[in-house]
Amino acid sequence: MEKIILVRYTEIHLKGLNRPFFEKKLISNMKGALRGIPSKIAHEQGRIYVHSIPEDSFDTAVDRLTRVFGIHSLSPAYVVDKDWDNVINTCAELMQQEIERRGGGPASFKVFARRSDKHYFMNSDAINHEMGYQMLIRFPELHVDIRKPEISLCIEIRDSAYIYCSEIPCANGMPVGSAGKATLLISGGIDSPVAGYMMAKRGLTLSAVHFYSYPYTSERARDKVIDLARLLSRYALPIRLYLVPFTDIQMKIYDDCPEKETTVLMRRLMMKIAERIADGEGSRALITGESLGQVASQTLESLCVTDDAVSMPVFRPLIGFDKDEIMDLSRKIGTYETSILPYEDCCTVFVPKHPVTKPVLEDIRASEAAVDFAPLIEKAIADTEIMVVGER
Ligand code: ATP
Ligand code: MG
Repeated sequence: MEKIILVRYTEIHLKGLNRPFFEKKLISNMKGALRGIPSKIAHEQGRIYVHSIPEDSFDTAVDRLTRVFGIHSLSPAYVVDKDWDNVINTCAELMQQEIERRGGGPASFKVFARRSDKHYFMNSDAINHEMGYQMLIRFPELHVDIRKPEISLCIEIRDSAYIYCSEIPCANGMPVGSAGKATLLISGGIDSPVAGYMMAKRGLTLSAVHFYSYPYTSERARDKVIDLARLLSRYALPIRLYLVPFTDIQMKIYDDCPEKETTVLMRRLMMKIAERIADGEGSRALITGESLGQVASQTLESLCVTDDAVSMPVFRPLIGFDKDEIMDLSRKIGTYETSILPYEDCCTVFVPKHPVTKPVLEDIRASEAAVDFAPLIEKAIADTEIMVVGER
């Protein structure tokens, strides 16, 4: 009897002729997620099985796979030869574990049998009835409830018998890398890691750009961003992170541009540098954590002025989200606790007292053109530090 992980995927089914491509990506990402854990992956008839996992790594393997985009759900399952006595004994053992896990006492159950092997000597109805009876005579605390069972005993008769009780919901989405590559502007805040998560979920490989303003922002602020990228990489695979020194550009804006325009000008320059970096590494789009109306730089007018700075599409997956909704997601993906650590971001340095909330494009373009930013942009890019951040 072997314990394996049975993996289900859904949306990939929709992809017609591209299906093998998506499945290959998914399996390769699963292998990445299971790095360091000896295991074998087998793929057949719309299912993926992970087997040969050492017992002491089993729970870690399950945990890591729950974060692989493209997986709909998984079940730790026993695989046994489909000899009926074997199947009964395994079901009894699993049921015993399940009853103990629930703390004992009465429980309702139902058997869900599926028979892909049409030559098996019983059909699924017969298996349901017979196994239900076998469980009832062994476990007096059980009773059958076919509408809302507390324990679902699932039996799949294929090449072997697969037996399991739980179905663990996973990350869904599309395999990372199946939809191309995009570059996330990552701050130390709550929003941008969530934005990155959402786009990786649609199959994008991420790289990330962070602007820091040392000495106005601290080493710890920078480390926090590296930590956030690492947490994000648990879903998004290893991320190439670009750390761009931004102090000189911010000082120049502060010294030479109208105070109320400083934030929107800063955002345009960030976008321009991010686009250059994105271009250099084959990304086709930028991603930000902006949400409509959240702050002065996120009004419709400001967003239009920011967009005008670049020609790449800018994805803003949080555009229609309330802050509460973003915070919920950030808790769910595990970035919240790090995001709320109280270190400054370069956006919070030199904040104008009265920022424009309805910037006029021509005015902003004129203010930007009046200052020669080009050498500073080149220098910032030349001094950018690059690291690959990734764990599972
Ligand atoms: P966040 O919670 O992600 O910091 P925010 O609500 O604080 O977002 P802003 O500070 O206006 O909003 O930033 C909007 C977006 O601009 C961020 O979501 C992020 O994509 C990008 N951004 C802001 N600061 C930086 C930075 N220092 N480096 C890279 N990108 C940044
Ligand atoms: Mg921020």
